[in-house]
Amino acid sequence: MTHKKVSLTNLDYDEQFITPAYGQRAMDSDIPKYELPAQSLPPRTAYDLIKDELMLDGNSRMNLATFVSTWMEPEAVQLMSETFDKNMIDKDEYPQTAELEKRCVNILARLWNSPAHEEATGCSTIGSSEACMLGGMAMKWKWRERMAAKGKATDKPNIVMGVNVQICWEKFARYWDVEARLIPMEKDSYKITAEEVLKYVDENTIGVVAIMGTTFTGEYENVKEINDALEDLNTKTGWDIPIHVDGASGAFIAPFIQPEIEWDFRLKWVKSINTSGHKYGLVYPGVGWIIWRDSNELPDDLVFNVNYLGGQMPTFAINFSRPGSQIIAQYYNFIRLGHEGYRSIQQNSSDIAQYLAKKIADLGPFQLISDGSDIPVFTFALKKIENYSLFDFTAKLRERGWLIPAYSMPENIEDLVIARIVVKEGFSKDTANLLLEDIKRAVKHFESKKSMKPTLKGGSFHH
Ligand SMILES: *Cc1c(COP(=O)(O)O)cnc(C)c1O
Repeated sequence: MTHKKVSLTNLDYDEQFITPAYGQRAMDSDIPKYELPAQSLPPRTAYDLIKDELMLDGNSRMNLATFVSTWMEPEAVQLMSETFDKNMIDKDEYPQTAELEKRCVNILARLWNSPAHEEATGCSTIGSSEACMLGGMAMKWKWRERMAAKGKATDKPNIVMGVNVQICWEKFARYWDVEARLIPMEKDSYKITAEEVLKYVDENTIGVVAIMGTTFTGEYENVKEINDALEDLNTKTGWDIPIHVDGASGAFIAPFIQPEIEWDFRLKWVKSINTSGHKYGLVYPGVGWIIWRDSNELPDDLVFNVNYLGGQMPTFAINFSRPGSQIIAQYYNFIRLGHEGYRSIQQNSSDIAQYLAKKIADLGPFQLISDGSDIPVFTFALKKIENYSLFDFTAKLRERGWLIPAYSMPENIEDLVIARIVVKEGFSKDTANLLLEDIKRAVKHFESKKSMKPTLKGGSFHH
């Protein structure tokens, strides 16, 4: 978001214009940066100009900060580029794209052990953030129905979650006027526990958010333990406090490589689950998904109907127009990879994450905070800070092109600074070994600079 208009008067002449080498053959005037140019450019010149500017962006394949897919097969890319023109909301005009979305919803519902044997209830979104908004709204509406039925006040809803939630949950609470009850983190424990959850919930709790793969450390919260605690509480009190699982990353990992973990619709109080198709769903941004346990969990008055092949198709979304190509690409991955394909890709990422984590721990100066055994993400801290900090360390690695964030943990344990590495498809063992060599070189560099002073503040956005 741009709050300030760029003041052109403060810029030197040379800062106001881009003067392309390619353009010199095609044109003889500069192009203003912050105003619509008066004249057109030949398409190739415009292309070259922008492509060159984008060389300054980081290399996405060396971006170990992001959870979002940075690699897809050429066939998927071709399919996507052939379908960029499809607006997924035009269900009547593109009924087959709508059909593929429906298939994806059903595939995910079954992957997550949905008890409903009829058609699954869910939809695609632009990402997990929109999916979380929809999940939160459904919980708020359901809670209001329950309270109204008992003749009770409906003006003080709250939602219970850890302070480690992704920012979208704080947005949800603020935008939809729900009190956010954030459970603090403790030293050596970076996830919520059932015991803590019980202290924070009450009759006005619309739901509890449990995360499968927190953005801070990549760890799974214990959904089963929370489910069992809520089962006792709900039975005793007559309340119906549900769980929404934020499976942005983990809902595409656990079903394949940790099928024994019970975190999904096998658990009675898990009423809705979101995931990011563009994270471990292995699709380029942006696509997300939300699935409800069954149609009872999605209040009717949140659903709108759009025309679809002369009939009506229910939709629930915040956005209207959105590309259809990511949904098509998700379906491509489903039929292309199948269960075995997803399993082997996720297992490979998991193996590489745990391998790299162990190698880094073995170097000496670092201590693992999480080891990559939940989602293929691990974090580490410096055992002690002498002449350099993790901010210095990750900045050093950036000289070689590696993008690795260092950040402080949430309040209460904010003195702990950690670095995080997200391993995903396209990051091979060979690449991991190249990174390891650079890490060793960086350690050596700092060990030879004993008089250096560590940078104690800094960090980059890690979500
Ligand atoms: C990434 C993430 C989100 C937000 O997802 P987007 O798809 O980027 O909107 C929410 N929750 C968790 C746990 C995440 O990892």
